[in-house]
Amino acid sequence: MRYQSTRGGSTANFSDVLLEGLAADGGLYVPEKYPVVTPALLASWRVLLAEQGYAALAHQILRLFITDIPDAELARLTASAYHEQVFASRVVTPVTPVGDTGIWLAHLSNGPTAAFKDIALQMLGRLFDYELTRRDTWLTVLGATSGDTGSSAEYAMRGLARVKVAMLTPHARMTPFQQAQMYSIDDPRIVNFAVAGVFDDCQDLVKALNSDAEFKATYHIGAVNSINVARLLAQVVYAFATWLQVAESDTQRISFAVPTGNFGDILSVHVAHQMGLPVDALILATNENNVLQEFFATGVYRPRPAHAVHATSSPSMDISKASNLERFIWDLVDGDSQRSAQLFTHSDDGSFGVTGGFDLSHDEIFVTQRERFGIVAGASSHTDRLATIARMWREHGLLIDPHTAAGVHVAAQLLAKGEVRTPIIAYETALPVKFANTICEALGFEPPTVERFAGLLQKPQHAIAMANDANQVKSWLASWLTDHQSVPPHTH
Ligand SMILES: *Cc1c(COP(=O)(O)O)cnc(C)c1O
Repeated sequence: MRYQSTRGGSTANFSDVLLEGLAADGGLYVPEKYPVVTPALLASWRVLLAEQGYAALAHQILRLFITDIPDAELARLTASAYHEQVFASRVVTPVTPVGDTGIWLAHLSNGPTAAFKDIALQMLGRLFDYELTRRDTWLTVLGATSGDTGSSAEYAMRGLARVKVAMLTPHARMTPFQQAQMYSIDDPRIVNFAVAGVFDDCQDLVKALNSDAEFKATYHIGAVNSINVARLLAQVVYAFATWLQVAESDTQRISFAVPTGNFGDILSVHVAHQMGLPVDALILATNENNVLQEFFATGVYRPRPAHAVHATSSPSMDISKASNLERFIWDLVDGDSQRSAQLFTHSDDGSFGVTGGFDLSHDEIFVTQRERFGIVAGASSHTDRLATIARMWREHGLLIDPHTAAGVHVAAQLLAKGEVRTPIIAYETALPVKFANTICEALGFEPPTVERFAGLLQKPQHAIAMANDANQVKSWLASWLTDHQSVPPHTH
């Protein structure tokens, strides 16, 4: 399997795109073609998941995409990432019904930092370690986080001798729990910046540093954000794993409801769908930052300037420019990389108004989207999410976090309007304990502390205050990475 940029150019191996992150032309790497999964294969995977667990399924799915790592190695890496001790169960992503509503919660948050991102990042950490050791080199992971990616990445990369992590966080925009998870990490190879800005500013800084080819090469800059194709592939696994637990036949079409920020999680369901997973509707849920809901409703993609991004009670979705949208558009234009490059470079250079974007409302490719890909979108307000949290608790005894509530709200709304059918698998993307204030506002009590996080909020914290300025980030990193040059390689 080879990978290519959404903006054209030559193809590359998985192990190269794993370390490179964003392609040199500014595009995102995508698999050249999607592997095909038949109902018979689904039937055998159902048995595999039941008998051998998630790790075995992950191995079977990932080997379709990752062909340049020896199969036995890949099996070893998936077995170590998806261990019962890391994810509390062999199934890793169990599902439970929401009463008799026809909605199922897919529990994706049983990893070390209580968000779904752990599932992909635990694998990514092991893939990095394998590949960096093989090449005898090191990597600086540079990322932006709205709260969950950063901690998932740091918990997954902690202790890897060949990896250093620099994470840009939006100052005072994360919840106390998210902030404590990141800022309490005490590891000489990990640094957190508190940037004077919002998540989109942090993401733009990462892009700016990545577009400096010399800086990128000198300091071995790589990515853990959802632009890294390995994350996408690891997430494809649980689209299958959750479907296999709910489907009553090998061809039953099931809808998925996914709270969306950077369009990464939902894109992995889209990929599974393109591979042959029987997906009915793909329900995209946003919060007040509804750029994507607007795009799928109208065909007009209009990202907003950073200052217009609302700080909401579902902060991991407070994103205006969803980087993974480009991968979906690439499928929408049937892999026409010229067209895709044109849409996104024009979007970036501001030819469609100051904040960029594009208008596909009259384009055949957009008009047929629902039929071909099944995406249907909705938004939620703070009040909607509070009401959903309260309703789930009162009617079903289920405690859900505000992101999961965004997905459940939109799914319920579309169900009531008759626009989608059950069964629906709703992704639970984080545990309520990460968002205690909002749970308290909805229910009048705090979510019970999960034992493994006891004492977290009391730990000492530290972060580097940073201006929203690429040059300042660069010079800070340059001196940090130069000082640490003796730390990374040469450990066996
Ligand atoms: C990251 C995140 C999301 C959004 O996922 P994307 O892949 O960025 O669309 C939703 N909920 C939670 C809890 C998250 O951490």
